[in-house]
Amino acid sequence: MKKDKILVIGACGQIGVELTLALRKMYGDTNVLASDLREEHDLLKGTGPYVSLDVMNKEMLHVLVIRHNITQIYLLAAILSATGEKNPLLAWHINMQSLLNVLDIAKEENLDKIYWPSSIAVFGPNSPAQETPQHTVIEPTTIYGISKFAGERWCEYYNHRFGVDVRSLRYPGLISYKSAPGGGTTDYAIEIFHEAKEHGKYTSFLSEDTYLPMMYMPDAIRATIELMEADASKIAVRSAYNLGAMSFSPKEIGAEIKKHIPGFTMAYEPDYRQQIADGWPNSIDDSQARNDWGWKPEFDLAAMTVDMLKNI
Ligand code: NAD
Repeated sequence: MKKDKILVIGACGQIGVELTLALRKMYGDTNVLASDLREEHDLLKGTGPYVSLDVMNKEMLHVLVIRHNITQIYLLAAILSATGEKNPLLAWHINMQSLLNVLDIAKEENLDKIYWPSSIAVFGPNSPAQETPQHTVIEPTTIYGISKFAGERWCEYYNHRFGVDVRSLRYPGLISYKSAPGGGTTDYAIEIFHEAKEHGKYTSFLSEDTYLPMMYMPDAIRATIELMEADASKIAVRSAYNLGAMSFSPKEIGAEIKKHIPGFTMAYEPDYRQQIADGWPNSIDDSQARNDWGWKPEFDLAAMTVDMLKNI
């Protein structure tokens, strides 16, 4: 039997650090090669092999895959929603070309499995906002959402046309304390914890009643690994699965934090990110992920708040 050798691209990002550490626990430290454009993240140092890699350089990526006998790739490098709006053409170029490089090498080298995350940003103002279904109107208005939607179509295409076993999740906003967020519209839900602990107050860049789907990082890491471990016959969706856990507004998370930090106060100064959030779902119907491969979240707002405040 062929041994699993995993390459994580974008390993120093908000998800990458935690996913790399989780994969190393499962597959063995030396079998998970971490890579990123940036310098190795402090939390990864000493935990396993690391290489500097620009995923846009297809030849280098191809050589790396062959040299290290890679069998699976987790592609996490991307330009996120808020950053993408500042330079749309760059976001499109990086988000699309990185995925095409990986999918094409997977096809050429007959790799076992590929993971690439999509996002709730694929939905737009014409999608139903409450309990947004798996299959519905998809008309994204941000360049990030457009690139994720196009990416989903490419994933399904490479699966149907060439048999590449690529799997994907539409992550909601992810909340974590280990590594910093990378420029998304849901970053407020991380900043709020740091500001609450350090200064007892927070000014939100989204309005008080902006509901967005969210998830605590341990659930997101578990969902990713469970999807990748599931038998291929259970993966009916080859674009990307809706994935949900909780939904709250800045006012609600503020009230939850106030239970632990009584003097905590909030103000609201919506900026350009408000418009992005307004086009996204309030909550997600993830019943297909639950039915197909058994997805079930563990953390709600109360449990996440306790854990975040304990750890940051
Ligand atoms: P991040 O910005 O924190 O990390 C991305 C990493 O990719 C960074 O370390 C960056 O240095 C690296 N990178 C960028 N360009 C690269 C290149 N050319 N070559 C190699 N590495 C490069 O992002 P994240 O939050 O960890 O997100 C990872 C994935 O999950 C992305 O596809 C993102 O769209 C998706 N996602 C994230 C969230 C969230 O809330 N964090 C929600 C939905 C989807």
